Amino acid sequence: MNGAMPDAAPSCRCCGARLTETFIDLGRQPLANSYVPVERLGQAEPAYPLLARVCGECFLVQVDAVVPAEEIFSDYAYFSSYSKGWVEHARRYAEAMISRLGLDGASKVIEIASNDGYLLRHFVAAGIPVLGVEPAANVACAAQALGVRTHIGFFGAQTARQLKVQGHSADLMAANNVLAHVPDINDFVAGFTILLKPEGLWTIEFPHLMNLVQQAQFDTIYHEHYSYFSLGTVERILAAHHLRAFDVEELPTHGGSLRVYACHLLASHETTDALLALREREDAAGMENIDTYRGLRPRAETARRELLDFLDQAGREGKKVAAYGAAAKGNTLLNFCGVTARQIEFVADSNPHKQGNYLPGSHIPIRAPEAIFTARPDYVLILPWNLADEIRTELAGINEWGGKFAVPIPSLRILD
Ligand SMILES: [Zn+2]
Repeated sequence: MNGAMPDAAPSCRCCGARLTETFIDLGRQPLANSYVPVERLGQAEPAYPLLARVCGECFLVQVDAVVPAEEIFSDYAYFSSYSKGWVEHARRYAEAMISRLGLDGASKVIEIASNDGYLLRHFVAAGIPVLGVEPAANVACAAQALGVRTHIGFFGAQTARQLKVQGHSADLMAANNVLAHVPDINDFVAGFTILLKPEGLWTIEFPHLMNLVQQAQFDTIYHEHYSYFSLGTVERILAAHHLRAFDVEELPTHGGSLRVYACHLLASHETTDALLALREREDAAGMENIDTYRGLRPRAETARRELLDFLDQAGREGKKVAAYGAAAKGNTLLNFCGVTARQIEFVADSNPHKQGNYLPGSHIPIRAPEAIFTARPDYVLILPWNLADEIRTELAGINEWGGKFAVPIPSLRILD
């Protein structure tokens, strides 16, 4: 028996309705970011059901919270400033917001999950007062060393009230890629209502559920991501806290993200055409219809069958397959498909902290990108499909021995 079946459906972490619809069952999986060092290869790996449900009332897609929080957070020593692309994204955001809102020395910018100050330092450089809120003490200290004032702790209504008493209130609040990681969404959002000035603005960035559904990006689901949002669902959550969205931008990050601009219900910010247009597109895409969500499972099954057929055929023909990118999404996919090191010899990744370890579950060894040029595989399977163009350019040299690229999502294709 693979664990007992729950006798009652859990309730939606947003609206409280009973969750009777499975979005996708990805089986039992280890945490997607727990890379295995060689000395632990022989030991049993903790694995947990990875089951995503969709709420029939508010259409929040959510993963059952079955992993003890300390296991998830022990892996969270991630420094945002390690990613060049992300730092550049942050710099452009700061510039745009300073000019859009006319921020100056009398303003206040508060970021939730401020990490190592990768974003707020651009406001500090422009002479604008900031406050970061960050639960991981080691990264918060790195931010403070850069002159980014940081409150160490989780964010929610209680923290917001405490900060308000200390005299904080915000012209701009930012929450980038944190909403998905929050177990209690309502308590989290309530904090923004408390800290935003009457005309203050909150920008929220999150991967767009419409892309997940339309492009079968089921591999972006993992235990650390509790929730997956459409614009419509976010608007309902905001409304429950006397807030509203008035503008939105689509960003290419994480396979397609949204940046929603929110304010108090009674603030003067006018609803933009971009917001109206995206509401219409979500409607046309069926994001308020449960049948749309039922379409993901068969597409994931097809993607699994295609990947396994491809690996089988390569094996029969004596062809070598390597993979590129030891990212979380690759692990969800490989473990859902039951792929092992027998089918994929190794995975190359440029992060030196991952090299020498093994992927969780599949136990495929992680090597430096140079290993591709030594092993000369017939196929390189690109796991982070959102970076496929970048990776193809970087590894264009595989042409030399007739090597080809393969991309597994939304359905397997071989690139010439
Ligand atoms: Zn709900």
